[in-house]
Amino acid sequence: MINCDFHSHTHYSDGFLSPIDLLDYAKSNGVENLAITDHDTIDALPQAQKYAKEIGLNLITGVEISSTWQNFDIHIVGLNIDITNPTLLKGLKQHQDFRAERAIKMARGLANVGIAGMENPYEKTLKFVKQGMITRTHFAQMLVNEGVCKDIKTVFKRYLVGKLPGNVKGEWADITEVVNWINSAGGVAVIAHPTRYKMTHNKLKTLAKAFKDAGGQGIEVITATIKDYEVEKITNLALELDLVASIGSDYHGWDNSYVKMGRLKSLPANTQAIWQLL
Ligand code: AMP
Ligand code: MN
Ligand code: MN
Ligand code: MN
Repeated sequence: MINCDFHSHTHYSDGFLSPIDLLDYAKSNGVENLAITDHDTIDALPQAQKYAKEIGLNLITGVEISSTWQNFDIHIVGLNIDITNPTLLKGLKQHQDFRAERAIKMARGLANVGIAGMENPYEKTLKFVKQGMITRTHFAQMLVNEGVCKDIKTVFKRYLVGKLPGNVKGEWADITEVVNWINSAGGVAVIAHPTRYKMTHNKLKTLAKAFKDAGGQGIEVITATIKDYEVEKITNLALELDLVASIGSDYHGWDNSYVKMGRLKSLPANTQAIWQLL
């Protein structure tokens, strides 16, 4: 099987590596087909396309767009998108503007906690932002650096989710609209990491149906952390709803015991693999 990874991040969103370092890393790990899918931005892609050609790696244009569905934040990966499409660019700009406003509010919430290490959170977090796109991951990195929490996971749990002081509810476009942006740009829309939403399987099925009705075509069946029994469940969902199966590590630039590039499980043979559409 060809080594594919259709979900990864660079420092244009909350990844740690530059596009060039990410491509080198992917190549050295045996990845042959890579999609860069930064959160709500495609700014890494022009230089990545150029460099991918130089090193002989097949790069698929991509993006991971935040969306809202029934009060859940759902991530939609768009693959093989035209990165000059005005509808897509306008949608991404809307999310980028929201991220900028949201970050100011998040920082205000954190400052109000009033503990050592949380003074001037906005200014300190900006130092971790390399290319303009600000995410909760950057706030988490800042708080680990300040010694407020021991690791990123702990920061999320204590400050950055639900009604906690450092979280601001996402005012992302509705899932239908996000699928439209991707389809307008000639791309394939894919539900990212379906097992990571805190919802029942029935709810996930309702989501997948709504997504399909909106014109979505795929779902990530293989992710870095997925368990075998989950692969089976998502495979069945994909077969039932006639969604193509995608595969992606969601690599953010730091290796841990779960997330590595080029080491993903194979897509189940009974699924329709996404690369047939790319
Ligand atoms: P944002 O898009 O600004 O809401 O940030 C979401 C990003 O935060 C995700 O793409 C993940 O990279 C990261 N993230 C979310 N939850 C966690 C968590 N519990 N632990 C570590 N990183 C997380
Ligand atoms: Mn992320
Ligand atoms: Mn995601
Ligand atoms: Mn991701």
